[in-house]
This record gives sequence, structure tokens and C-alpha cells, in this order.
Amino acid sequence: MDKTGKIIIISAPSGTGKSTIVGRLIDGGDLDMQFSISATNRAPRGEEKDGVHYYFLSTPRFQQAITEGAFVEYEEVYPGRYYGTLRSEIDRITREGHNVILDIDVKGGVNVKRLFGTRALSLFIEPPSVDELRRRLEGRGTDSREAIEERLAKAEYELTFAPQFDTVIVNDQLEQAVEHAHEVIRKFVDS
Ligand code: ADP
Ligand code: 5GP
Repeated sequence: MDKTGKIIIISAPSGTGKSTIVGRLIDGGDLDMQFSISATNRAPRGEEKDGVHYYFLSTPRFQQAITEGAFVEYEEVYPGRYYGTLRSEIDRITREGHNVILDIDVKGGVNVKRLFGTRALSLFIEPPSVDELRRRLEGRGTDSREAIEERLAKAEYELTFAPQFDTVIVNDQLEQAVEHAHEVIRKFVDS
């Protein structure tokens, strides 16, 4: 029997509710799924902790990790701000037979799916509208006005990636979106 865990990819424009949904899916506990902690050179915000939400690296350390081939994929998601999926995270989690969930940007999501093929399931989370996305980013209260405008400006472009994902889930009512994601992932990990 193949005990290697599967890879679940979740992508969406920032503020759509990815982290909230991923948190709920992991807390549910029944999918045997662990979070892949990405590396980034951006500063922690709010309550974020190193080694929990991200591995927060300096820019030279991030560049060194690229040179060493430590990343399965990495992207400059915003100018000067890099995020990467560590090979060691995927290996650590999946070789023990657990499933791994990646919260990564749309380009990274498409790349990881292409790399892992049928071992990966890619989900795209869509906001009900761009106006609602703005309300969520403002309501979250973790980003400056400029950061919010930057994220919204990027959202329209990111939304064009939806058809490249296995499943699209609209996060209008949170409970329904979590349930939909849970159902699709359950089917995939049991297959
Ligand atoms: P992302 O990880 O995609 O950037 P978050 O999970 O941080 O987004 O969610 C952004 C904000 O929107 C948070 O304040 C969160 O509580 C809120 N939120 C998430 N899902 C919903 C929803 N279905 N309806 C209303 N607010 C939501
Ligand atoms: P944030 O700054 O809001 O935590 O994340 C910004 C964006 O970077 C989000 O879309 C998030 O999914 C993405 N991201 C986080 N980790 C990775 C990663 O390892 N690779 C890629 N490509 N994107 C990532």
C-alpha cells in the first residue's frame, strides 16, 4: 500500500479567506492534514510567529535557500517580497503518510499541481466580489492602506487563474465554503 501522503493546494487572492479555511480544515482533525510552513522574507504581522505561520528569513538567507535548491517553488508575490515552499516541509509531512496542505499564491499553486500531477489536488478560493474582498482586508486590520490597495490591484489578475485549478470554491458563507472544501478533499485523500 502506498503510504505517501497527498498534497492539497489552496490558492486565492489575499483576503479571500484562505488562512481561515485552512485553519478550519486542519482543526477538524479528520483529514490527517498538516500545514506546510512556507519561507518568506517579509516581516511578521500581527500575532504571526516564526516557525508557526512562516519561516521568516532575511533576504540574503532567502536567496541562499534558492541557491541551495531548498524550494519546490518560490515566487516574488509582491515586489521585493518572496515566498517559497520548502522541499523539507513536504517531505517531512508526506513521508510519514500525512497529507500536506499548502496556502500559496496562484502561480505557485499552478506550478505545484503541474509538478506533482495526480498526487496533488488544487483548490481555488474565490471571493463573492472584489468589493467584499476590500471589506475583508479592511476588517482584518493587519495591512496598511497601501498594502490593501496593492493586494486589491493584484486580485483581478489572480482571479483569471481560477480555470487552471481542479476545483473552484466561492467563499461567501464561511461554513458552506469549509464544508465544500472538506468534501472535495475527503474524496481526494480517500481515492
Ligand atoms: P487570506 O488568508 O485569504 O488572506 P484570511 O483568512 O486572513 O484571508 O481572511 C481575511 C478576512 O476575512 C479575515 O478577517 C477573516 O476573518 C474574514 N473572512 C474569511 N472568510 C469570510 C467569510 N466567508 N465571510 C466574511 N468574512 C470572512
Ligand atoms: P501573506 O503576505 O498574506 O501571508 O501572503 C501573500 C501571498 O503569498 C498569499 O497569496 C499566500 O498564499 C502566498 N504564499 C505564501 N506562502 C507561499 C509560498 O510558499 N509560495 C508561493 N508561491 N506563495 C506563497
